[in-house]
Amino acid sequence: MKLYNSATRTKDELVPNEPGKIKMYTCGPTVYHYAHIGNLRSYIMEDVLEKYLRYSGYDVKRVMNITDVGHLTSDADTGEDKMLKGARREHKTVMEIARFYTDAFFADCAKLNIKTPDVVEPATNCISEFINMIEVLLKKGYAYEAGGNIYFDTSKLTEYYVFNKQDQEDLAVGVRDGVEEDGNKRNKCDFVLWFTKSKFEDQELKWDSPWGVGYPGWHIECSCISLKHLGERLDIHCGGIDNAFPHHTNEIAQSEAFLGHKWCNFWFHVHHLNTDNGKMSKSSGEFLTVSLLESKGYDPLVYRFFCLQSHYRKSLMFSYPALDNAAQAYQKLLARIAALKNEDSAVDEAAAAELKKGFTDALDNDLNTSLAVTALYDVLKADVNDATKYAVIMDFDRVLSLGLEKGAAALREKEAAAPAADRELEAYVEQMIAARAEAKKAKNWAEADRIRDELKAKRIVLTDTPQGVKWSLEQ
Ligand code: AMP
Ligand code: ZN
Repeated sequence: MKLYNSATRTKDELVPNEPGKIKMYTCGPTVYHYAHIGNLRSYIMEDVLEKYLRYSGYDVKRVMNITDVGHLTSDADTGEDKMLKGARREHKTVMEIARFYTDAFFADCAKLNIKTPDVVEPATNCISEFINMIEVLLKKGYAYEAGGNIYFDTSKLTEYYVFNKQDQEDLAVGVRDGVEEDGNKRNKCDFVLWFTKSKFEDQELKWDSPWGVGYPGWHIECSCISLKHLGERLDIHCGGIDNAFPHHTNEIAQSEAFLGHKWCNFWFHVHHLNTDNGKMSKSSGEFLTVSLLESKGYDPLVYRFFCLQSHYRKSLMFSYPALDNAAQAYQKLLARIAALKNEDSAVDEAAAAELKKGFTDALDNDLNTSLAVTALYDVLKADVNDATKYAVIMDFDRVLSLGLEKGAAALREKEAAAPAADRELEAYVEQMIAARAEAKKAKNWAEADRIRDELKAKRIVLTDTPQGVKWSLEQ
């Protein structure tokens, strides 16, 4: 498999450190609020990567942190503490906020068929590991104490700006209101490893350390949690593109200074989901969550389908009309799968293997999910029996996780439960709706109106919904 590596800025062949095994780390959510669907785009694409590696036969171990301490709104050492901000907003303690939004995050993930990583570790579980790493960094001369805080000294590195050539627009999201300068820093890019003196006097979570009572900086958690569960050599590190700098740059600085050798081979960054007024944010505009989409009548898997239709390395523009298109395409896809007579024949294994090639070729080429979805449609069009089509599609869904088996089964059940007369009526109306859509496409308005009138005369009413045209019988 070839994967774009942000560290080399080329598509490189994925060669694991240990044959057949992949050690994969993912930056987890900062649990001070619900995840927005932009955050979840990153987790969906990382989920596809993990599942495709497993599908390809790798033994994958994936670890994710939960950020429940230390993350400031600037992503660097300025701004407000995100967890404190959440606690104040809801008049709760930081730990209550963390617990609530961690659960909410995994509930959203479950709705989107995102698998929970093998290990999930909250940062507040690992304070002693952080202290240990900081002590080693101090001993090795990579860190210094100033004004009560411990800083990483970036001037001690031969290379620091590993990802600095990232897309400027995406980077701007990461480095938000970097207003105040910290006079304690020896170099502009130095960053805090441990705070004992911070502007947050009401900081709730504090721990004892050799440097006084305080709390860790944000970046140290990912270095330590990864080392704790995945050892000294990591194969793939994932995150959204805004994590590339400063977060991942600082993770590399800390980990490699601590270890004394190269740490991670592949850096997988998912580009942003944007709205037409720019970046997606938890604080401005409509706060787009999975629950909001559900309340508007969308199946969360429609959002997953929407994400898979574009490449992870391109910014994706969210809009309701675009989501409506995905909803219609998803419903049609389920209907086509439900209509397969897969019980009537046996799977043609040779044909199945041939069809799978299109899918693996797409994903082997830098996880091209939109071509993988095209490969799925190619299966439906292929000149093979229905059992083969069904088996191949379900095989693809081990990676895509679009709930195709369940969705198609639900449609079949609905169909079977309907009396014959209803089924006949339904077939007739569906045919008329399709003919009307064709007429509209051909700008044959007279024919489209005629079809609507014919249906109306039979007391059949059409309504436009995000999932396509729906019909009902007039009471
Ligand atoms: P956070 O909860 O802010 O720590 O972010 C969780 C994950 O979402 C990180 O991997 C971010 O890089 C990623 N992320 C943040 N905003 C977006 C966005 N608009 N589109 C895609 N991923 C994002
Ligand atoms: Zn991280």
